[in-house]
Amino acid sequence: MERRELVKALGLGALAAGGLVACGDNEMLASNKPKKPVTIDWKMVTTWPKNFPGLGTGANYLAQLIGEMSGGRIKVKVYGAKELVGALEIFDAVAGGTAQMGHGASYYWKEQVPAAQFFSAVPFGLTAQEMNAWLYHGGGMELWREVYEPHGLIPMAAGNTGVQMGGWFNKEINSIEDLQGLKMRIPGLGGEVLRRAGGTPVLLPGGEIFPSLQSGAIDASEWVGPYNDLAFGLHKVAKYYYYPGWHEPGTTMETFINKAAFEALPEDLQAVVRAACRVANQDMLAGFVAKNNAALQQLVNDHQVELRKFPDEVLLRLKQLSDEVVREEVAKDPLSTKVYKSFSKFRSQVGEWQSLSELAYLKAREL
Ligand code: CA
Repeated sequence: MERRELVKALGLGALAAGGLVACGDNEMLASNKPKKPVTIDWKMVTTWPKNFPGLGTGANYLAQLIGEMSGGRIKVKVYGAKELVGALEIFDAVAGGTAQMGHGASYYWKEQVPAAQFFSAVPFGLTAQEMNAWLYHGGGMELWREVYEPHGLIPMAAGNTGVQMGGWFNKEINSIEDLQGLKMRIPGLGGEVLRRAGGTPVLLPGGEIFPSLQSGAIDASEWVGPYNDLAFGLHKVAKYYYYPGWHEPGTTMETFINKAAFEALPEDLQAVVRAACRVANQDMLAGFVAKNNAALQQLVNDHQVELRKFPDEVLLRLKQLSDEVVREEVAKDPLSTKVYKSFSKFRSQVGEWQSLSELAYLKAREL
C-alpha cells in the first residue's frame, strides 16, 4: 500500500505537522513547523438505518462521546446502512480499511466467522447483565478479540437491547407445529432453531422487514422490542406480538475497529475509545429499558396489538432444539468450541446466583 493510501485508510487525512510516530515519516518528525493538534477523521459504518431509535442513535452517541472525550482530536462521521456500504457489508468494509469503525451485531457475520455469534445473542443464553459480566469479568472479551484478530479487527461491546420480544405473527402460535412452514426473519442461532422446528429463517436487515411482511415475502418477523418495533410500524403488517424473546435474551451490539487504525492512535486516545464504548454500552441498555414500556403501552392501547406469551410447551421445545443446534454448530468449528465452553460454563454458574438474586427478587416483587 502506498503511504498516502495507508494514511487515508487509518483516517489520518488531516494529520498535521509533528504527526504520529507510527507513520515513520522522518521528514515530519524533523519538521520545525509549530505543532498543531492532530485531527483524526474516522468513518463509522453501521448496519442500522441512519438515526434509527436506540441502535442508530446509539452509534451516533458513541461517535459523539469519542469526539467529546478526545477533545475533538478524533472526529467520527457516522454512516447509516447503504450510505457508504450495505448493512451487511460493514464487517468487510472495516477489515479492508474503507472505514475505521463499524457498529452492528456480531451474529450478522456467522457465515464468515461462526464463533462471532456467541458475542451477540445465544438462544436461552445470557441476559444483558450476564453478558456484560461474562465479557468484562468472565473472559469473554479476550475470546472475542481472539475471534476477530485474523480479520484485522478489534471488537468492543457497544450497546445492549436487553431481552427482546419473540416477534410479530399473523397467526397464533399454540404449538410447535404452528412454526412449521413459517418463513420468518430471525437471525443467528435463533434462525437455525426455527429451521429445526420446521420453519424457514430469513436474514434481512432491519430496514427491509416492513416491506417484506407487507408484500408477504415473509410470514413473520422478530426485530427488537416495543420501542424499535413501533418505530418500524410492524404493528401495521402483523397482528400478534409474542414474548419472550427466547432467541435474544440480551443482545450485545458491537463496535469493531480496524486494528491498524486503532494501533496508530496514541495510548490516551486508545483509552478514550475503549472508555467511550463502555459508556455507550451501558447507555443503550438504560435507554431501551426506559423506552420499551412506554412504546408497549402505545402498541397495546393505541394500536390494539394482540400481546401473546409463547406457551410453556413451545418454549420448552424451542429450548431443547436450541441446545441441539448450538451443540452441532459448536462442534463444526474449533474456535466456536473454545468460546462456547467459556460461555456455557459462565451461564451455568451465574444461573445459580441469578436464581437467588434477580429472579428471586422479581418473583417477590410480583407477589
Ligand atoms: Ca432481534
